[in-house]
Amino acid sequence: PAGAGWFCPGLVGPPQGGCMSAPLLQVTGLSRAFGGVQAVDGVGFSLAEGEMLALIGPNGAGKSTTFNMVGGQLRPDAGDVRLAGESLVGLPPRTIWRRGVGRTFQIAETFRSLTVVENVQMALLSADRRILHWWRPAAAHRRADALALLERVGMHAQADRPCSALAYGDVKRVELAMALAHGPRLLLMDEPTAGMAPAERLALMALTRQIARERRMGVLFTEHSMDVVFGQADRVLVLVRGRLLAEGTPEQIQADARVQEAYLGAGFDVEATA
Ligand code: ADP
Ligand code: MG
Repeated sequence: PAGAGWFCPGLVGPPQGGCMSAPLLQVTGLSRAFGGVQAVDGVGFSLAEGEMLALIGPNGAGKSTTFNMVGGQLRPDAGDVRLAGESLVGLPPRTIWRRGVGRTFQIAETFRSLTVVENVQMALLSADRRILHWWRPAAAHRRADALALLERVGMHAQADRPCSALAYGDVKRVELAMALAHGPRLLLMDEPTAGMAPAERLALMALTRQIARERRMGVLFTEHSMDVVFGQADRVLVLVRGRLLAEGTPEQIQADARVQEAYLGAGFDVEATA
């Protein structure tokens, strides 16, 4: 089980050596207002290498705003975001991405006619800093590496199909492979399973968890299905009206009376799962 200030996945007994060094991600006093709305209000947490950290809360709680401040899409009014000890505040999103903070994006409409492997090759091209020319197909670029990423997410057999022909859950696996293309140390996943069936959600996040462990990649994710949150997260942060209401292991959060009250009282957007 994880302690408050440290987390060592797979480690039995107390943490030692490197595990006590600076956390992968350290967020302190993060705040952001929009007009009169304090969307995020003094949020602080840390995330270790290989850790799955869920950020949950009602709609409008400030989850996406928090993600966007970590990824650099939004500048915080106050607070700090440190990756392995170095502040990311004020850096452009592309620089933050270069430093190893990835996020899953939906495959753009224009790329859906490309094959699965071509989409991953495009992501590899982008990671390799090549200029993307629409007239120069990605077909020649690092195909073997792209196939290896697809193999990891279970999409190897569909590599040469156009993305437009895939089932929705399979598109999500390809998007995960694309997010892995630049080797992120931290992966931000804001509602990665939106629109998916319950069993598929669990499968995608269980796969993400395995990959996080293998690569020692930290994952910060939002998810509405409590089965997925409590089954796949190592720790859970509960955000309500911009503030952290609770933080703990899935067992601690499930047993927390304040969280149960928030679920009932604050109109938690919980989706029923089988
Ligand atoms: P969540 O992702 O938890 O649903 P958000 O971070 O999207 O919550 O939103 C938190 C609050 O900030 C909400 O009240 C929302 O309306 C407001 N908000 C978010 N983004 C903006 C924006 N760009 N402009 C104005 N208000 C915003
Ligand atoms: Mg959101």
